[in-house]
Amino acid sequence: MKIVFATNNLNKLSEVQKMLPESIQLLTLKDINCFDDIEETEITLEGNAKLKADYITKKFGYNCFADDTGLEVESLHGAPGVYSARYAGKENNPENNMQKLLTELENKSNRKAQFRTAVVLNLNNEQFLFEGICKGEILNTKQGEKGFGYDPIFKPEGFDTSFAEMSSEEKNNISHRGIAVRKLVEFLTNNK
Ligand code: IMP
Repeated sequence: MKIVFATNNLNKLSEVQKMLPESIQLLTLKDINCFDDIEETEITLEGNAKLKADYITKKFGYNCFADDTGLEVESLHGAPGVYSARYAGKENNPENNMQKLLTELENKSNRKAQFRTAVVLNLNNEQFLFEGICKGEILNTKQGEKGFGYDPIFKPEGFDTSFAEMSSEEKNNISHRGIAVRKLVEFLTNNK
């Protein structure tokens, strides 16, 4: 079975491909000659994941899945959420995004937050949704050099280190994306 992962992120692609049986082959957007800029215009993670998956299935006819992730901070009523990549401005600048979040939380005692990933799968004219959540808190200062995005200021529940101090294996085991992708992989493996 061939299935499109609607992403240009090769790290994400190889991460998911490694978890799948050989009979399921993932294709990138480039593999299907899709160079369109699919704008994420929806106001929910599920909406954006659906928008991307539907775009590919409608235009190219492939089974497809797409993901969208956001960091939801309790005392900010779920912000930055679906706008996590562009929190501090149009371009995705992780340093500015983290700085803005730390400033917003300066006088707040509740620093609870969660990463949430939504994955939407279009398979043989049916649509399926998978979700992964990783609960934790926002640290007062950056810790660690690994990972990306908000990793240096996110400490997952039950751990003493930030995501940026973990190996990618450690992070994948407990992360929002790891959880959502494992649900997707299990589903695809049982329905191939
Ligand atoms: P995307 O939907 O995976 O592109 O994620 C949107 C934005 O959320 C990214 O640009 C990051 O700012 C943030 N983000 C997503 N996943 C993670 C993660 O695992 N660690 C830290 N930040 C993340």
